[in-house]
Amino acid sequence: MSTPPELDKVLAVAAEHAEHADADAEFPTAALDALRASGLLGLVVPVEHGGLGGTFADVVDLTMRIATVDMSVGMVFGMHCQQAATIVRHAGPALRAELLPALARGELYLASVTTERGKGGHLLTSESEVTAEGGTLHVDRDAPVVTGGVHADGYLVTTLAPDATSPSQVSLIYAARNQLETQVLGGWQPLGMRATHSVPMRLTGDIPASQLVGEPGGFRDIVTATFGPLAHLSWSAAWLGAASGALSRVVGHIRSPQGRKQFNTSSELLLTRLAGVRGRLDLVHALLRHTLDVVDRTQDLSVPPVQLLINTLKTQAAVQCFAAVDELVELVGLRHGYLRGSALWLERVFRDLRSASLNYANDRLLLANGALALLDQEVRLA
Ligand SMILES: Cc1cc2nc3c(=O)[nH]c(=O)nc-3n(C[C@H](O)[C@H](O)[C@H](O)COP(=O)(O)OP(=O)(O)OC[C@H]3O[C@@H](n4cnc5c(N)ncnc54)[C@H](O)[C@@H]3O)c2cc1C
Repeated sequence: MSTPPELDKVLAVAAEHAEHADADAEFPTAALDALRASGLLGLVVPVEHGGLGGTFADVVDLTMRIATVDMSVGMVFGMHCQQAATIVRHAGPALRAELLPALARGELYLASVTTERGKGGHLLTSESEVTAEGGTLHVDRDAPVVTGGVHADGYLVTTLAPDATSPSQVSLIYAARNQLETQVLGGWQPLGMRATHSVPMRLTGDIPASQLVGEPGGFRDIVTATFGPLAHLSWSAAWLGAASGALSRVVGHIRSPQGRKQFNTSSELLLTRLAGVRGRLDLVHALLRHTLDVVDRTQDLSVPPVQLLINTLKTQAAVQCFAAVDELVELVGLRHGYLRGSALWLERVFRDLRSASLNYANDRLLLANGALALLDQEVRLA
């Protein structure tokens, strides 16, 4: 897909509002409005439903571009595309027919509700019961972290399947905002990713059982085929975009007349540091493109070598992109690296990227990968 011309408008609006959205921990409503108007909320919606017919590679490319100006907006966009792709690939025909044109028209911004207070981030279990009565599911979901939850038009929510006999029987339900009573239970004052406005909420309502996405208790299959891979691809794209934007601004600064007074471009320390940062980004980029390619051409994504790769992308992108920006802070020093108000805004990117290893805990994925590595004695690298 060629770059949509409306992307420039989205980038300009996101850049204009980034500083105050971060300072005030405010959701970037102007950027969301620009995304709505651009048609990009329907990026992954097939053309026959009015969408742009974009691929996972398009999600990665556009998320990277948006995150170069504001990582929070990049994440909001990438996560929305992950939810939209889940509907495209796993919702039944009636739900698709209702939601896909609305996504394409920019009327449906989707939020994700998977985290729970008791089980933390673990994606494949739930403690949230729903009761089924006739064709209706009664949802009462405590949702401790919901990016854009106040602004979303609809939610994809994980719960236990109604007749579940184990915490791993997790269902995914689509609920429209107007089908729910939404209560905001607290504020959002984090270190970084402040413009994601990921507030705690309680969602209550009666939802038609026809709004189940996938089979009852079948969320694991959705995670394996779509939800997990696209989460790791789009998050990594957001982190890489943010870190690449930071490097670009630093290089521009060093080469500027003002920067030339401060930096000696033949300094071996400076050159070695720049090479280290650039190397980290090239490594993540190579891993991201390779993972994208493997995900695109593999039928069964559940096999250990592919799962290992998808998880390694996430953990390495989180570590390497943060480390790259940390090194840039060291390289440019206090004024442009550590203080707010610098035109390089490394300080914000540093705080934003600190969330990467926590946004689905790297520790959880490393534990999973250790177990998977034991299953793959032949070391079949994907
Ligand atoms: C910017 C941002 C936006 C988010 N948006 C959303 C959203 O829209 N919707 C949503 O549902 N969630 C969202 N989340 C939540 C996120 O995806 C994670 O699920 C959540 O951050 C995990 O929270 P946690 O660290 O408290 O829990 P956990 O994953 O439970 O981790 C808590 C701690 O336990 C450790 N740990 C985990 N497993 C083990 C183990 N087996 N042994 C030892 N230690 C272990 C971890 O390393 C970590 O230190 C968002 C998070 C961020 C940062």
